[in-house]
Amino acid sequence: MNQLFIIIIIAGTLLLVSSLTRTLKICRKSEISAWYFLFYFIILFIIGYIGILYYFIYFKLDSILVSTVACILFGGGGFVYLVIKLSYNSLITIEEAVEVQRYQAEHDILTGLPNRKMFFKSLSHIISQSTPCSILFIDLNDFKQVNDSFGHHCGDQLLIATAHALKSNLSHHGSLYRLAGDEFAILSTYQSENGLKECIHLITNSVHAPLKVEKQQINVNLSIGVSHYPQDSLDMYELVKHADLAMYEAKKTNQSLVFYNTELSQREGEILLMTNRIKGAIEQDEFLLFYQPLICSKTNQQHGLEVLIRWPQADGSFLSPDDFIMVAERSSLILSVTKWVVIEAVKDLKALHAAGFTGMLHINLSAQDLKSNEFYDYVVALFNQDPSISKVIIFEITESAMMTNIQGAKEMIIALNAIGFQFSIDDFGTGFSSLSLLRELSIKQIKIDRSFVNGMLNQKADYAIVKSIIFLAKQLGCEVIAEGVENSEVEKELIDLDCDFLQGFHYSKPVPLEEIRHKYLNHKAS
Ligand code: C2E
Ligand code: CA
Ligand code: CA
Repeated sequence: MNQLFIIIIIAGTLLLVSSLTRTLKICRKSEISAWYFLFYFIILFIIGYIGILYYFIYFKLDSILVSTVACILFGGGGFVYLVIKLSYNSLITIEEAVEVQRYQAEHDILTGLPNRKMFFKSLSHIISQSTPCSILFIDLNDFKQVNDSFGHHCGDQLLIATAHALKSNLSHHGSLYRLAGDEFAILSTYQSENGLKECIHLITNSVHAPLKVEKQQINVNLSIGVSHYPQDSLDMYELVKHADLAMYEAKKTNQSLVFYNTELSQREGEILLMTNRIKGAIEQDEFLLFYQPLICSKTNQQHGLEVLIRWPQADGSFLSPDDFIMVAERSSLILSVTKWVVIEAVKDLKALHAAGFTGMLHINLSAQDLKSNEFYDYVVALFNQDPSISKVIIFEITESAMMTNIQGAKEMIIALNAIGFQFSIDDFGTGFSSLSLLRELSIKQIKIDRSFVNGMLNQKADYAIVKSIIFLAKQLGCEVIAEGVENSEVEKELIDLDCDFLQGFHYSKPVPLEEIRHKYLNHKAS
C-alpha cells in the first residue's frame, strides 16, 4: 500500500522537476529576481521531496501518515507545475501581443511595407556605420485624380499594386518603405554609380506597364528625388529634406528623376523668405487691388472688371502676382490672400456702384481655395451680410486648378452656385481639360487663354483653337471671353468669330480703383 504513496510522491517530485526548465525560461525572459528565487526554492523542494521519499522507504511508518503526506506533496508539486505553466503561457501570449504591436508600429497596414519610423531607424543605423547610401523619395503623380475619379478603395488598391511592383522588382537593390499617402522611399547602399543607375532603372521599369486595379488599367508615373550620404549632408534629417526637395522639383518640372543640388536649397531659402514677406504683407495690409475692364463685343461698352492683386514695393515698383501667388499657394497663405482680395473687392464694389458702375466683378481663385470649407464659410458670411453680392461677383478658376482638385472644385461650384455665385473657367485651353466637367457643372463663362489670342492672327493652330473654344462655349450655352487682346486686328477677328467679351491692353491695362471710379463719375457728370 505504502508503495502506491511512494509512487505518488515520486510523481509530485517529477512535476517539480519538470517545472524547472519553464521557470528558468521565465527567469531569462522576465529578468525579475523573484523568479530566480522561486527557481532555487523549487530545487529546495525537490531535495525535500527526495529526503521524505528516502525516509518513507527506509522507515516503516504509519500508512495514514504516509498517505496524507504523499497527497500533500503531490498536490504541492501539481500546484507549482500549474502555476509555472500558466505563468509561462501568459508571458508568451504577452510577448506575442507585444511583437504584433511592434510590427504594426513599424509597418504600414495597407501595403505591409516598413513605415516612416522604420525608414528613419534604418537610415540612422546606416549613418552610424558611416556606410555611403542613396535616399530615393518616390511620389506617384496624379494619385489624387485616381482617388477622385475611381474612389478611395481603388486608390488603396493602386498603392498596394505599386508597392508590390516596386518591391518585387527591387529585390536586393534597396529597401522599400512607405512614408505616407502616395510617398515611398528606398534606401540603397549601392556605392557605385552603376549600382544606383540599375536601382533607378528597376524602379521606373516596375511601373512601365499599366497596373491592373479593379478592372481598370492605370498608368503610374513616378517623380523621384535622390540625395546621397555623405556627399549631400551628414545629417539624417537634412538628407531627407534634400531628397524631398529633389522629388518636389521633379514633380514641378515634369521630370521623372532629379538629383539633389545646392541650388535647390538656395531656391527653397528664397521661397521661405518670400513666404515670410507675404505673411508680413497680409498683416500690414500692403496689397492693392487693380481693375481691368472687360468689354462687351456687341456694344463696345464696359461689361465688367477683373480684380488683379498688386504688391507695391518700397522702391515704388509693383511685384507681379506671378511672382508671389505661387509661393502663397505652396505655403497655404493663399487662403488669407484670397479672403483679403474678396473683402476688399466687395468694399470697392460699393464705391464703384456709387460712381455708377453696374457690371460684374471677376475675382481670381486658387486651387487651394477650393479645398477648404473655410473659403466657402467666408463667402457665405459675406453673402449673409449682403445677398446682392452673389449677383455681381464671378469667380475665375483656372482650368488647371480645377483639374488638380476636381472633387473640391465640383463641390465648391455647386455650393456657391446654389446661393447665386457664377463661375468662369480661366486660361481655358492651357490645362488638362475635362470637357465632362463643363457638361456636369453650371459654368457661366469660358475665358480663352491669352497665349492663343495673342498668336491667333499669325499661327493657324492658335486661330483654330480660339475658333473651336468659341464654338464649344456657344454649344454649351456658356459666355466666352478672350483675354490678351492687344490690337484692333485681333479685336475685329474676335468680333467676327462672335466672341462675347474682350479683355486686354487694347482697351486698358489693369488700373487702380480710383481711375475706374473717376471714369464713371466723369461719364455721369457729362
Ligand atoms: P490671369 O487671371 O490670367 O489675369 C490676367 C493677366 O493678364 C493679368 O496679369 C493681366 O495684367 C494680364 N493681361 C491682361 N491683358 C493683357 C494683354 O493684353 N496682354 C498681356 N500680355 N497681358 C495681359 P497679372 O495682373 O500680372 O496677373 C497674373 C496672374 O496672377 C493672373 O492671371 C492670375 O492668375 C494671378 N492673379 C492676379 N490676381 C490674383 C488674385 O487676386 N488671386 C489669385 N489667386 N490670383 C491672382
Ligand atoms: Ca483671371
Ligand atoms: Ca487668364
